[in-house]
Amino acid sequence: MSKKRIGITTKIFIGLLIGLVVGILVHSLPGGTFRDDILIDGIFQLLGQIFLRGIMMMVVPLVFISLVNGTASMGDVKKLGRVGARTMAFYLTTTAFAISLALVLGYLFKPGIGLDLGSIEQIETTVKEKTPLAQILYEMVPRNPISAMAEGNMLQIIVFAIITGVGLSALGDKVKTIVQIFEQLNELVMKMVEFVMLFAPLGVFGLIARTFATVGYAALVPLLKYIITVYIGLILHSSLVYSGILKGFTGLSPIKFYKKFFPAMSVAFSTASSNATVPISLEINEKQLGVPRSIAAFTIPLGATVNMDGTAIMQGVATFFIAQVYNIPLDIGAMLTVVLTATLASIGTAGVPGAGTIMLSMVLQSIGLPVEGIGLIMGIDRLVDMGRTTINITGDAVCTVIIAKKEGELDEEIFNSDSKALSK
Ligand code: ASP
Repeated sequence: MSKKRIGITTKIFIGLLIGLVVGILVHSLPGGTFRDDILIDGIFQLLGQIFLRGIMMMVVPLVFISLVNGTASMGDVKKLGRVGARTMAFYLTTTAFAISLALVLGYLFKPGIGLDLGSIEQIETTVKEKTPLAQILYEMVPRNPISAMAEGNMLQIIVFAIITGVGLSALGDKVKTIVQIFEQLNELVMKMVEFVMLFAPLGVFGLIARTFATVGYAALVPLLKYIITVYIGLILHSSLVYSGILKGFTGLSPIKFYKKFFPAMSVAFSTASSNATVPISLEINEKQLGVPRSIAAFTIPLGATVNMDGTAIMQGVATFFIAQVYNIPLDIGAMLTVVLTATLASIGTAGVPGAGTIMLSMVLQSIGLPVEGIGLIMGIDRLVDMGRTTINITGDAVCTVIIAKKEGELDEEIFNSDSKALSK
């Protein structure tokens, strides 16, 4: 039994690698019906979309049900407040750190210097008007929970689920049956996620193959320095910061963490969406990393929207890149403004592809840099999005493990076990 499941994790990895190679090969084929209609928009799209839509289908029911279930079983509003405050503090601090790291890298590597502007196709940019923090906060309260679910508004669903869970817990025995129903519904949605994940190797293959078959490699060359700087930031942040705090705060092995969390990282990489990764991340946190549902069901969906360290790294590097391209010097005051704006902007950035780049316009505006500069990096944004989303969701899981440990609720036996099965 477990042999077969171990195979799934490995298969996802193989799907990813084959997708990469096949995508690059298909890109070099001459355009026409076979390449464009049969392969790229046919087979790759079909496999990718079935998987993507399958996991997206699970996000709203899973987040709502598992969070109601988790909060109802937590039974302690004080604890909820403590976990909430610690989680937010962790998310905001790591994001501010990530963007500072990116600014240092942008300063050191100078990705925008010596760029031949004529060699880049400029894409028109969508400008995001600044949303006041107060508005981000009050909009977390849904006017209508059904439309919050229909729109997949993660923060609103979280608020409604928590109130439902706290209500159930306050009513205690009177609503025993409803609590049991939520427990059973939770079993059901988790099972459904497992089914969808069976398709992950093929889905990941389709998504990656399509991305690499359609990417404009010519656009990539002049931006290589920018892309590499972002990836260096992402790798440094995960290998030093995440591994360091994981080891420092919990004493647990970062290698074990990464090994077990790998399937979620592959899903993030291939979908470029934190939201789409929530189901698999929740499953791994509970079943592989030993985090109780009452914590993971709260921190993971919250992190998918609020915590975006990878996006912050991209925004930091991109800010320097654009300033350098337009020859505008950045002083320390401007950099501090970037840290602040990008950290706050991350709270309202949806965990969907490309959202971080739209938010970048807010960061640029805050220091008077030309927003059109975003058009320069838009063409290759997907390649950067894949990496930054992977780090975004990894940060959520690292925080989740640390919070669980601090609450004394991490099952270290599960964390340290060797099983790589996606489910029990
Ligand atoms: N795609 C990212 C995410 O879902 C957001 C971004 O565009 O940076 O986490």
